[in-house]
Amino acid sequence: MSKTLAVRSLAAFAVCFGAWVAYTQNQPPAQPSKVNKLANDLYELEGDGGNVAVYLTDEGVIVVDDKFERNYNDIMADIKKLTDKPVKYVLNTHQHGDHTGGNEKMKANGVQVIVHRNARVNMVAGKQPGLPHVSFTDQAQVYLGGKEVDAYYNGRGHTNGDVVIYFPALRVLHTGDLFTTNGQGNVAPFIDYNGMGSAAEWTKTLDGVLKLDFDTVIPGHGPISKKADLQKYRDGFEKMQTGIRAMSRQGKGRDDVLKMLVADFGWAPSGLGTNSLDRVIAELK
Ligand SMILES: [Zn+2]
Repeated sequence: MSKTLAVRSLAAFAVCFGAWVAYTQNQPPAQPSKVNKLANDLYELEGDGGNVAVYLTDEGVIVVDDKFERNYNDIMADIKKLTDKPVKYVLNTHQHGDHTGGNEKMKANGVQVIVHRNARVNMVAGKQPGLPHVSFTDQAQVYLGGKEVDAYYNGRGHTNGDVVIYFPALRVLHTGDLFTTNGQGNVAPFIDYNGMGSAAEWTKTLDGVLKLDFDTVIPGHGPISKKADLQKYRDGFEKMQTGIRAMSRQGKGRDDVLKMLVADFGWAPSGLGTNSLDRVIAELK
């Protein structure tokens, strides 16, 4: 590593770390979620943290993701308004704290928590609380009250442990952060390189996801979408990969690539969205 690069990496780390400390020290109070009904037995809690899916059965509730720890009481209060049955399972789409923050309290209430093996390894490495009881590699099924929920792993993207959660009876899919819709329709993904994410493999992973038979998509963050929106996001992502590769071949530097990403794909001109840009360029060469 050259000295300039080392200094630059250190600066990027300082900005990143500073932002993280500021973030954790200035945690806003929990905001109540908007409760969206997708079916008589499937609801989505949208707002603070990642989107939560709540699937009701006669034998209990299956939950997908559980936001931050501060949202736990609100999540449970929302579920109580929908059913008197207890939460039995939580499936985490990946390890990030805005999707697994309620795990510890769920576990204390006897809930079984399930996650992809890589995501659990990442949680152990990051000394994260709320380690799930069960992990799997390719796919997992949860059966409760005569209903089924499937979890599928299709490869790396946002991290190396993202799974999508499928509700076959309802043709609904929860994508976790492999797809988010709070970026005004832009392709400005957060590639978590510490969590072994990959900009190069993301589209291949989405190709696997798109083979599933579904109509409605609950994204990791942002409003509920359709399968066509996920296809559009995947195609935009490929266009972005192609653009970065072409600029690299032309010998264009980081600043030019960043300008293109800001103008064409809605990337942030500074901040967390671009700290991984050097890694993205290196990966797509
Ligand atoms: Zn995430």
